[in-house]
Amino acid sequence: DENVTTAALEEWVRRFAHQVAEHRDHLTELDAAIGDADHGSNMDRGMKAAVAALDESPPATAGALFSKVGMTLVSSVGGASGPLFGTLFLRIGSTLGDAETTSAPQFAAALRAGLGGVVDRGKAGPDDKTMYDALAPAVDALDVALADGADLATGLKHARDAAAAGRDATTPMLARKGRASYLGERSVGHQDPGATTVALLLEAATEAPF
Ligand code: ADP
Ligand code: MG
Ligand code: MG
Repeated sequence: DENVTTAALEEWVRRFAHQVAEHRDHLTELDAAIGDADHGSNMDRGMKAAVAALDESPPATAGALFSKVGMTLVSSVGGASGPLFGTLFLRIGSTLGDAETTSAPQFAAALRAGLGGVVDRGKAGPDDKTMYDALAPAVDALDVALADGADLATGLKHARDAAAAGRDATTPMLARKGRASYLGERSVGHQDPGATTVALLLEAATEAPF
């Protein structure tokens, strides 16, 4: 069975920070249409702070890695995305804990626990037009791929594709959670910023050395 190292997980986080920085202006434009035009700057500030914290003291375990990233997001991002992405990473970290390495099924279970954290925190479900609509299909796709015998790298490619499809599917939805819900019908026809960021998170996972 393949093992996932803390170094590979850290590379995932760093690739995600890079993706967010690269797409910051696009994420903010998406949020300008149905929110308050800060999602890109929120996530970029948070992930830059997370990378700085990792540079300062490299974590030895997955638990330490993700609790650092999650706590940094919660404390440095004011918007909804800080607590939501923060909780995602905190739950991944508490699920993986202090083991030296992680297996592919453990990684998938941690991602599912992270989704559970997002739901606990934000109470979103399917078709509410949030980050949930990209994350839930990605988690499902990874489970299905691993159950079919795929290795983690292949499973993550399926998860990446599912997240991208979930992101695209948010466009015709009517927002029922978060700021975009204040717009009612006027939220229809715009891609959700948070779902777009989740697609970047899964894209980054396919770039990491899993
Ligand atoms: P804010 O709305 O506070 O300005 P951001 O703009 O950074 O925060 O993040 C907005 C994103 O957060 C949305 O695009 C959506 O994906 C996500 N979001 C908002 N509320 C919820 C919720 N209750 N559950 C899940 N995701 C949510
Ligand atoms: Mg916003
Ligand atoms: Mg805001």
